[in-house]
Amino acid sequence: MQHAARYVSTRGAAPVADFAEALLRGMAPDGGLYMPVDWPTLTPDAWAPDRAYAEMAQTTMTPFIGAALPKGALDRGLDRLIAGFVPPEVTPLRQLEDGLYLLELFHGPTAAFKDLAMQLAAALSAEALAASGERLTLVTATSGDTGAAAVAAFANQPRIRLIVLHPHERVSPVQRRQMTTVDADNVLNLAVRGDFDDCQRLVKGLLADESLRAHGRFSSVNSINWSRLAGQIPYYLSAVSQLAAQGETRPPVFVVPTGNFGDAFAGIAASKMGLPTRGLVAAVNGNDALARAINEGVYARRAAVETSSVSMDVQAPSNFERLVYEASGRDADLTRGLFSDFARDGRVTLPDELLAALRREVSAVSVDEATTRAQIAQAHAAWGQVVCPHTAVALSVARGVDRSAGPVVALATAHPAKFGKDVAPVVGFNPDPPEVIRAIGDRAERFEVIGADAVEALAAVRDFAA
Ligand SMILES: *Cc1c(COP(=O)(O)O)cnc(C)c1O
Repeated sequence: MQHAARYVSTRGAAPVADFAEALLRGMAPDGGLYMPVDWPTLTPDAWAPDRAYAEMAQTTMTPFIGAALPKGALDRGLDRLIAGFVPPEVTPLRQLEDGLYLLELFHGPTAAFKDLAMQLAAALSAEALAASGERLTLVTATSGDTGAAAVAAFANQPRIRLIVLHPHERVSPVQRRQMTTVDADNVLNLAVRGDFDDCQRLVKGLLADESLRAHGRFSSVNSINWSRLAGQIPYYLSAVSQLAAQGETRPPVFVVPTGNFGDAFAGIAASKMGLPTRGLVAAVNGNDALARAINEGVYARRAAVETSSVSMDVQAPSNFERLVYEASGRDADLTRGLFSDFARDGRVTLPDELLAALRREVSAVSVDEATTRAQIAQAHAAWGQVVCPHTAVALSVARGVDRSAGPVVALATAHPAKFGKDVAPVVGFNPDPPEVIRAIGDRAERFEVIGADAVEALAAVRDFAA
């Protein structure tokens, strides 16, 4: 096995795993997150101006996979990924004004950036299961985007079942229909009479339920899965490649709209692998635990606030653990101690040395709702560009970043038509939906409504997984 293709847990007490094991497990058995034992290094030809997305993804991901999947698995996965996106750039870079760019990550099957990693994770999971002969049941809670991307990716994948719990009547009609109109017997949508936290609680209970083990592996599809992280690294290369093609060879600053810190950590991984950048800024909404940790040195849980950038309404960003592990010089004892204190007390003070190291990796800025709305308006007025609330959070931070030493790239994570309710009142019209949303039309929906109750959830899952 190549070096980078071996995975250790951030908490240091799990056996070393290969890519397939990390992929199918999601979380490490000691409660930590999988990390490659070292970072593969890329050379500048990896992001040369004329490279196709599939080539960049191939170069980035091959060392992470090693020999853990059947021959050709990555190529087949990438063919499927690319086929679902708008060619040729896959993730086009759009210049807004001098030195300021948007990297558009929403031209895939569900019009949000999670498609990029999820499509690949699904194809690679099917390959791993075909090789091992196992079956996998995935359970996930969603407030919208994750569920839609997961359904689109895992529908009709052999040996895999997918169960998605969404809060009944609390996801947007577009997001619900993206999940419920799929024609696939391996997908079960449960609409829970409750909120997103109820859905998450039920998923936790299901994943811990011993009686379900008889049906094969159980896991989740959230962004702690290493395969999803790895699948997000290539678009950072794509941004640098497209900048060079447009004559801009100075390294960019990336500004990333952040919830669970998966997208942002992929950017940090890209720079560890050698991609030239001038830094990374995590832009968060009013759910600002990450920004307070980086800026004030205290990582503390607070009550959730509802915002228009709903996919970033995250209290304790799960991938912060990967950042702490990396910034501490891969100190698993420190990481385990810190996150078990946080789980117990809801609050930890970061040691000075760690804090300094974290600040070398990332800076973080919180953006309020009024600023987000103002940014949606400004982007439309100045550039004729309609952006979703998540993208607006990043863009408002990006506009404040110094451009004298090089370009600034904000990541655009969802198509604005998915968030018409928030965008239309600001710009004065409903954004035109992309073809993938129009195509849903009036297809029939399939979902089952259940109470926010562990017994009901277990019964529904048993019926389905049997
Ligand atoms: C999930 C999501 C984010 C946040 O990404 P993380 O990896 O959780 O930080 C941002 N924008 C949109 C549209 C999303 O769906």
